[in-house]
Amino acid sequence: MKRVYCRFALPEPCVLAVMLFAVVFSSMAGERHFKVEGPTNPKAWEKTAVEELDHYLGLCLGGNRLTVDGQDGVVFHVGDTELAKKNGLVGFQDEEWCVKSFGRDVALVGGGTRGTLYAVYHFLEDECGVRWWMDGDEDVPPAGPLNFKALDRSGKPFFICRNIWRFKTSDPRTAVRNRLNDNGDSLIPPELGGAFTYGPPSHAHTWDMYLPFGKHGKEHPEWYSLVGGKRIGGHWDGQLCLTCPGLVDEFSRRLEDFIAKGEVDAAARGVPAPRIYDISMNDSRSYCQCANCAAATKKYGHSGLQVKFVNAIAERAAVKHPDLFFSMLAYYYSEEVPSEGVRAADNVIVRFCNTRQNLAAGIFDKDNRSIHDLVKGWNKFAKNLFVWDYCITYETDDKGMGCPFPSEPYIFEKFRFYADNGVTGFFLEHEHPECADMYELKYRLECKAMEDPYQDPKPLVADFMSRYYGAAAGKVLEARSLLARRGRERKAFVPWFPTMGEFNFLTDGDLAEFERIFGEASTLVKGDEKLERRVERAYGSVRRLAPYLADIRRKIGAKHHPKKGVSDKPFYEIRCGEKEICSILDSANIDRVEDSDIGGETVVRVKVTPTPDSYYTMPFLMGIYNSADKIDIAPRQWARPHGTGYHWYSLGRVTLPERNFCLYLTRKWTVQLPFSLPEMNGKTFEAKALVKFMGPTFFEGSTEPNEIRIASVVYAEP
Ligand SMILES: [Zn+2]
Repeated sequence: MKRVYCRFALPEPCVLAVMLFAVVFSSMAGERHFKVEGPTNPKAWEKTAVEELDHYLGLCLGGNRLTVDGQDGVVFHVGDTELAKKNGLVGFQDEEWCVKSFGRDVALVGGGTRGTLYAVYHFLEDECGVRWWMDGDEDVPPAGPLNFKALDRSGKPFFICRNIWRFKTSDPRTAVRNRLNDNGDSLIPPELGGAFTYGPPSHAHTWDMYLPFGKHGKEHPEWYSLVGGKRIGGHWDGQLCLTCPGLVDEFSRRLEDFIAKGEVDAAARGVPAPRIYDISMNDSRSYCQCANCAAATKKYGHSGLQVKFVNAIAERAAVKHPDLFFSMLAYYYSEEVPSEGVRAADNVIVRFCNTRQNLAAGIFDKDNRSIHDLVKGWNKFAKNLFVWDYCITYETDDKGMGCPFPSEPYIFEKFRFYADNGVTGFFLEHEHPECADMYELKYRLECKAMEDPYQDPKPLVADFMSRYYGAAAGKVLEARSLLARRGRERKAFVPWFPTMGEFNFLTDGDLAEFERIFGEASTLVKGDEKLERRVERAYGSVRRLAPYLADIRRKIGAKHHPKKGVSDKPFYEIRCGEKEICSILDSANIDRVEDSDIGGETVVRVKVTPTPDSYYTMPFLMGIYNSADKIDIAPRQWARPHGTGYHWYSLGRVTLPERNFCLYLTRKWTVQLPFSLPEMNGKTFEAKALVKFMGPTFFEGSTEPNEIRIASVVYAEP
């Protein structure tokens, strides 16, 4: 006899009690018009599938009638049940799922450890209308009768690895309900089917975990990268010397230890053993410059040398572990495809890291041409290609995170492109749900695109807007459409680490328009606390940006009139003491001080150590960089200072780019002024900086410390 499960999983001795409970409950309350049954000996994930279906169906019906194909007394058979076996619903591939009715009996079943769960979640989402937006934020339609036609649906997620990293403790249930099969740093437990995941030590930047520099650096300096004549290693600082004799042996031994550990740990947790082990570069740009590595890099490229190293380890490991995969990163200096015919072995996964994209444009936009070409290129050099993608902006100088950028119109287009070009798995960095722009919508579209990149996103967006914002749906959609339109019209370029200048595609007029739209939106949902909060969150990114932009624009525009000693024409001035306007990229050597030479104004101070390789000795460099189109404009150098004290150093007449640019100072480009007013873009100005040089490095006989002080930059009308 089959067991009947209620929503609570109970140990073996309680089975009879459960059955009695279920029967008594049904007859007394008279509420239930359906039954949910699992197989005789359910697996952990089958129990969850039973509980989830029972729980949500109960909520959806609220005691109302349920029919399938016109019949009452419906029984849902979840997992590898007799009904499934009798009807040939067996032998599914991993994660494949099926919902099929046979009269009043419905089978929900699938392959591997997650297929059955996906069958249940698809039924609840597609047929019953349940939505899981985010941890603790779900949406069950108002209770009512449910009448289904004969059910016959099946599917399988398109991409094999679907992972969105949200934050450290994100609830794996949200991920699994949305058919993700890994959950960032949070383990997916066996009762949720476990994860398609990496074994120890970690999923990325693992070289130093195999061969820690801190532990072996003294005894085996030859294992580590030779940089500037010194052997260095470590997660952030160095790499390995990939041509070092014996390194592959050493690495392979440690890999065997990790594989053994991975299998033991998985067995102890009751989840499938890991399928992938990572062998990827540290998070550093310090590649080995020894003669052998330099020669190999010249021949095969940085990525080619890494592919050869990982191939060699993977080839050995395959003897004992023919089903495992070994992953590497194509990242920073190794993102270009290999040369000389080097190709990743069939058991190697190359994970391409998309650090260059314009988040506010599509994959076919010319801004993203390099990403487009690299993915297409890697598809020819690797059978297994994953992508590490960034869906969020990070902060620069405590700014830029949680600001608005229109990426949702391009999500499906990008995942289709990935699908068409051999990509099979993803790790998406999309953390900070508390503040990232339009988080719930973007997360939902990402989940959907990874499951089926070829579906039409329009109904998904419409469904999300109406279900999530209720009466305010039209207004939120209007705001997002305005953002997307402005992004397109003004060619917005929003990189993963934006400066505030990169949000200059929104004018003060736009910000006022957003304020109006969201004001109307909140009026429409007034009194509904949940919807009010959601509308407030949708406005959050614009609201966060608005005061910054207003403040910066006020500061730049305030002095727009001639002034003796600066210019006899109107000018815009950017003061380097304002940290919202001036970015410092080398906080070890650069800070801000008040300077009595200039009326106590706060200026940027560059501390200069006069070593031969210092970027801060003469010549002094200044220029304008068009960061969207990667063009250096009007760079100019000075071999010696104009004199002691503050002097103007002029770039001459420059035409500012139409969009994202910064004025940079010092040969290291470490002082950057990325901001202008939108009305300045594309116009011609006389650009100059007010700079003071101090100390014996610049003036013989001086007793002052060696410093460069930068007070302000001026764009004067010509
Ligand atoms: Zn080397």
